[in-house]
Amino acid sequence: MSKYVVGVSGGIGSGKTTVTNAFAKLNVDIIDADVVARDVVTPGSDGLRAIIEKFGTSILDKGECLNRRALRQIIFSDEQAKEWLNNLLHPLIRQETLRQTIAATSQYCMLSVPLLIENGSYKNVDRVLIVDIPEEMQLARSMVRDNADEKIIRSIMAAQASREQRLEVADDVIDNSGDESALIGQVSRLHHRYLGYAAALG
Ligand code: ADP
Repeated sequence: MSKYVVGVSGGIGSGKTTVTNAFAKLNVDIIDADVVARDVVTPGSDGLRAIIEKFGTSILDKGECLNRRALRQIIFSDEQAKEWLNNLLHPLIRQETLRQTIAATSQYCMLSVPLLIENGSYKNVDRVLIVDIPEEMQLARSMVRDNADEKIIRSIMAAQASREQRLEVADDVIDNSGDESALIGQVSRLHHRYLGYAAALG
């Protein structure tokens, strides 16, 4: 089990995945909240079973997987269904995150959580690393990656914590406004620092 947990966050398109991939190459175990959120509703899971019981099999796609778009549509217009779903998923996500954190074997591990600041989970990690870029760059990179229009990305950005709020709780900041090669030195420096912190725990 990794005793030392670094929480990683940043707004949409800031480069969390790019940065955690770089740490993963250094053999750091990464627990990604987005992946965990998908894991808890895979076919055969308790999560998906409960969702089928509630909304019927029409919530599945042809491959018997959860049809996320259909589910989003239901909860968009039904506040009670949204609350029911959150009450189901949040404990499952918490449990699975804990399981993966306990299973991590690297000297320290990273917990990548898009809403680390918004949901208060930054209080449960040993250190907070924020991936930071200017908002206009966040917008441009997200639009290209998701092939999405400006309005959609701006509305997601508006629902997230602000750049200032994130930086306020950051212990460390990675500046991802340069090209990807500019990340290597920053990642390497932080990696050695985190190894030191983890070793100091004994
Ligand atoms: P997040 O996980 O925070 O949403 P990603 O890591 O997916 O962000 O990065 C968003 C997009 O920007 C991706 O298409 C990624 O390839 C690209 N990207 C990330 N870092 C850089 C960089 N330094 N220079 C250019 N493009 C980048």
